Amino acid sequence: MTNSISIKPSKVIQLGHSTLRKVAAPVENITHNTTQQLIENMLVTVKNAGGVGIAAPQINVSQRIFIMCSKPNNRYPDAPLMEPTAIINPKILSKSTDTEKDWEGCLSVPAIRGLVPRYRSIQVEYYDKEGVKHNSHYSGFIARIFQHELDHLDGITFVDRVESTRDLFSEEEWPNK
Ligand SMILES: [Zn+2]
Repeated sequence: MTNSISIKPSKVIQLGHSTLRKVAAPVENITHNTTQQLIENMLVTVKNAGGVGIAAPQINVSQRIFIMCSKPNNRYPDAPLMEPTAIINPKILSKSTDTEKDWEGCLSVPAIRGLVPRYRSIQVEYYDKEGVKHNSHYSGFIARIFQHELDHLDGITFVDRVESTRDLFSEEEWPNK
C-alpha cells in the first residue's frame, strides 16, 4: 500500500489540453501498484481542490478511472455524503428517458458554470479499486457526477453538453452564488 500522507496533489490540466479530448484507455490491471498509486493521487488531488469528482485525464493520465465524492453543498443541500469512491472501467447500462438541467462546474474549466442536461437516473457497472465488479443504480446529483466524470473518459467536457452557449455563466454572474 502507498502512504497517502506523502502524496502531493497533482496538477489539474485545463480546457484546451489535448488529453482532455482523448478517449481514455481501459485499465488493464486494477490491483497493480501503478493503478493504486494513480487512485491515491486522484483522491489527494480532488480533496485538495474541494471537488466532488475528478477523472484521471484531468491529471493527464488517459485511463478509465474517476473518483466520486459527493457531499452536501449550497446547490445540493441534500446531496449524499459519500466516501470518496474510485470508479474503474465504468459503463452506463441503461438510463431514464427523462433528463434534467442543473448547474455544473469542473476543476478543468475554472470560473465557469453551465446548465447541463443529464439523465435523471442511470444503471451502471464499474470495478472498484480492489477489482470487484459492481452494478449500481444512481439518481439525482450522484447520477449527474457519474455522467460528468464518464464524459471526461470520452474526451467530453460539460461545456460540450450545454444546449446553448447562453447556459454558460461566469461564476461572478452565477445566480446561485
Ligand atoms: Zn470535470
